[in-house]
Amino acid sequence: MQLASHTSSGATRVVLQGLIAMCGIFGIAGNNEASNLTYLGLYALQHRGQESAGIVSADGKRLFKMRRRSLVSDAFDKNSIEYLRGPCAIGHVRYSTSGPNIQKNVQPFIAAGRFGDLAIAHNGNLTNFHAIRKQLEEQGAVFQSTMDTEVILHLAAMAPGSTIQEKIKNGLARVEGAYSLVFLTTKELIAVRDPMGFRPLALGWLGKSPVFASETCAFDLIGAAYDRELEPGEMITATMKGEISSMRISDPKRPGRCIFEHIYFARPDSTVFGQSVYDVRRRLGHELAREFPLKADVVTPVPDSGVYAAIGYAEEIGIPLQMGFIRNHYVGRTFIEPQKAIRGFGVKIKLNPVRSILAGKRVIVIDDSIVRGTTSKKLIKMIRDAGATEISMLISSPPVVGPCYYGIDTPTSEELIGANKSLDEIRRFIGADQLHYLSMEGVYRAAKGDSTRYCDACFTRNYLTSIEHRTAGSSANH
Ligand code: AMP
Repeated sequence: MQLASHTSSGATRVVLQGLIAMCGIFGIAGNNEASNLTYLGLYALQHRGQESAGIVSADGKRLFKMRRRSLVSDAFDKNSIEYLRGPCAIGHVRYSTSGPNIQKNVQPFIAAGRFGDLAIAHNGNLTNFHAIRKQLEEQGAVFQSTMDTEVILHLAAMAPGSTIQEKIKNGLARVEGAYSLVFLTTKELIAVRDPMGFRPLALGWLGKSPVFASETCAFDLIGAAYDRELEPGEMITATMKGEISSMRISDPKRPGRCIFEHIYFARPDSTVFGQSVYDVRRRLGHELAREFPLKADVVTPVPDSGVYAAIGYAEEIGIPLQMGFIRNHYVGRTFIEPQKAIRGFGVKIKLNPVRSILAGKRVIVIDDSIVRGTTSKKLIKMIRDAGATEISMLISSPPVVGPCYYGIDTPTSEELIGANKSLDEIRRFIGADQLHYLSMEGVYRAAKGDSTRYCDACFTRNYLTSIEHRTAGSSANH
């Protein structure tokens, strides 16, 4: 959970950023309910982005689009689904990691070129976007948006190739960074994963219809069966009838799967990078217990992000798990706070402590990560006010020390508490009696992997591509 607040006229508007995260993409081909199923798929992927939602469908002759700056539930109704005709559709939910949240940046993005109309939905961030955009502008290209995604369309349009697949492949050869993509022409759906496989993208089947989604929880909702992940550097084309063919857009490179998908971003009921997210998070809790077997009366998670690691920790250590915070599931994105500000309002509206669980107890509170440290500080104050006698905070990942340039919304280095304070300074800032972070080795034991297969730059600053200074604000490390 993460929050920011700013003042509007009079009352304070609190924006809960903890509800938002990067992007989710979905696509389906060869199904006469393509747009309805895409809408449902986006519903399941809503946790990956709440700023905007969009669907583009194709009926063999033209594209139909519907994009809104709202949640999926508000973006579409029966009429819009009926309007989005045809057996193929792609969809996108967005949180802006590149470009502000303005209507022209809502995806899927559509452009018309020599190849006809082409729609694109993107999860990830390109790390050489500014250099490419500058080059393209110098060659006379006119951009409609401020999104990195738009350069992919320009590059594809200008690249050599007799088919759209070749053009996309040759265009993508110039970009670096993270991209899981679904494209839609009037006749074909094309799904692509970057050669390092930073972001997930899975293939499933609903009968004979191929389905593509950032996470497998979208397959579960529509009753599709998970088949496999797209290989890093793989492109799959699906026809209007749902027949698929695969080609490589590049030789495989060093894998760069995002370890933070397992730690925080993906839904725990998804299979990501071939593993159950729930299982990995529970094992993170086991590892935490092995590294820090503390004495306490109760283990409690920060809902929802700390729940699964807390289950694993309590299980391994043999201390009962209790829900020391209850989450209000009906909170929206923004609130009007009374003129006389309420202390810790942003956190309180979402989480309320259960005094009977915390009073007089030595409490271990578990969360997945500390970003700015402001949420933890408020939560620990709430636990203390509820009467806890001792508070130990355990984090199921190492300190976040570097911004993500590959599609996760993290603040600049200046704002990352892990990049600026020592362990003891962080402990004092958040007000805990003890603070421990899981080691990187512990994370990899839980993820059954190692640093040669994942991107862990947010914890190590070991970025796997060169980083443009401008990509994510002024604090870029490279
Ligand atoms: P903070 O107050 O910034 O330390 O927030 C910590 C909380 O933010 C933890 O509960 C994390 O689950 C959550 N979190 C981690 N990464 C992100 C992110 N990129 N966007 C929003 N929330 C996040």
